[in-house]
Amino acid sequence: MTISMAARNLDVIADGEVVVCGGGPAGIAAAVAAARIGRSVILVEQTGCLGGLGTAGMVPVFCPATDGERVLAAGICQEVMDELARRMGVEVSYNWFPFDYEILKALYDEIVLDAGVRLFLVTTLADAIVEDGRVRAVVTANRAGLQAITGTVFIDATGDGNVSAWADAEWELGGDHGELMGPTLCSTFSNVDWDRYHAAAKASQDARSIWLRMMDEGKAPLPEYHFVGAFRAGPTRTGNNLGHTYGVNGIDEESLTRGYVEGRKLARVYLDFYREHVPGFENAELSATAALLGVRETRRIVGEYVLTGEDYRSRATFEDEIGRFAYPVDIHSATTDPAAQKHVEEELRATRLGKGESYGIPYRSLVVKGFANLLVAGRCMSADRQVQSSIRVMPGCFITGQAAGVGAALAIEGRCAVRDVNVAKVREVLRYQGQYVP
Ligand SMILES: Cc1cc2nc3c(=O)[nH]c(=O)nc-3n(C[C@H](O)[C@H](O)[C@H](O)COP(=O)(O)OP(=O)(O)OC[C@H]3O[C@@H](n4cnc5c(N)ncnc54)[C@H](O)[C@@H]3O)c2cc1C
Repeated sequence: MTISMAARNLDVIADGEVVVCGGGPAGIAAAVAAARIGRSVILVEQTGCLGGLGTAGMVPVFCPATDGERVLAAGICQEVMDELARRMGVEVSYNWFPFDYEILKALYDEIVLDAGVRLFLVTTLADAIVEDGRVRAVVTANRAGLQAITGTVFIDATGDGNVSAWADAEWELGGDHGELMGPTLCSTFSNVDWDRYHAAAKASQDARSIWLRMMDEGKAPLPEYHFVGAFRAGPTRTGNNLGHTYGVNGIDEESLTRGYVEGRKLARVYLDFYREHVPGFENAELSATAALLGVRETRRIVGEYVLTGEDYRSRATFEDEIGRFAYPVDIHSATTDPAAQKHVEEELRATRLGKGESYGIPYRSLVVKGFANLLVAGRCMSADRQVQSSIRVMPGCFITGQAAGVGAALAIEGRCAVRDVNVAKVREVLRYQGQYVP
């Protein structure tokens, strides 16, 4: 059933040369990169903070930003990680870096505002207005009702490819049979005795080993072989990536609602498991569950080039390469099937690249097919399911976000379509901004 709404004129609340949609790692990097080149940039985010799944979604660590020899996410990502570590009073690690969400939120505010970005938080995007193959405006839904933001170049960093989909771009979803990786509602426990935990872990009494033994004995509280874990996020605190809400579709709000409700129940189940069975967690408390459900995959927007698993395996290089990445293929199971759950970690191990190895990311995989002024970055960029499961982690999203920001800025400077920018210049500017571009 459909219902029609009377055509109406929308107030334009802002106009920018570059309009970045979504304030996660990709959107932050895009906005900062373009603003530092001197463009007027607007960044729109629906929640009350920047960082996306890394803050409101409470994901626990920065995944590896390196190929084992050099930092690949060497631009804005490395800058963020270095300053985050300094503020946390710890040594930075570019290879699994657990962090404090609250420090990260405040740091993102500063980096974005210091770059001169005009920031709209608590502003939900609801539609895109397209004229002659160009996005003319995005529609905002906020306390004043529907309004609009106009711009010259738009970057879709919504994670779900919302703006591209509203503009009628092509997109793909899930696996060959429509299967989708199970999302996770991340959470945090407090009151943990880490010294006691680490001492017990040396004798195989770590949480994962205990859980998997219980699975094999049929005594685990849930049928789940893919146990990621609770990471140390502070002197007595954890950052948890525990459990999956299977069968949830991240672009269907009713399905998402079930994900949040089940996710909160799961957090309690894991808390009880830790308290009862894991040394050091006897007095743990559940201090928060995330405001954003951890959705691993939704739309993959089709760009001028679709990066593939074959490119990953061949460690491809491209003439229009804007960076390289090396995180393994990490496709979480779509179901509670034990074989599928066990396969995830086998594939992670089997696809891990060697030291110093990586795959290239072409600029064309950020250019939305058929649009003169629309780029896509982050989790929803143009990639097949295998590469998406690698590039979707935060350092990968920073790399593609920063490149999209530079591409947008140069398209404005050159008064050309985003597909026609001088990619040699994009690469040069990225290098100047500290990014690793061989
Ligand atoms: C459970 C889980 C655990 C993970 N663990 C890790 C980990 O430990 N380490 C790691 O590096 N990566 C991890 N990842 C991956 C990583 O966190 C995300 O894939 C990454 O944050 C994606 O970045 P992004 O900028 O593309 O999108 P997001 O982080 O999803 O940001 C998109 C932003 O756009 C906003 N937005 C969306 N729609 C609209 C709209 N209509 N209007 C306005 N704003 C909108 C959202 O609110 C959000 O802030 C994990 C992912 C999941 C799901």
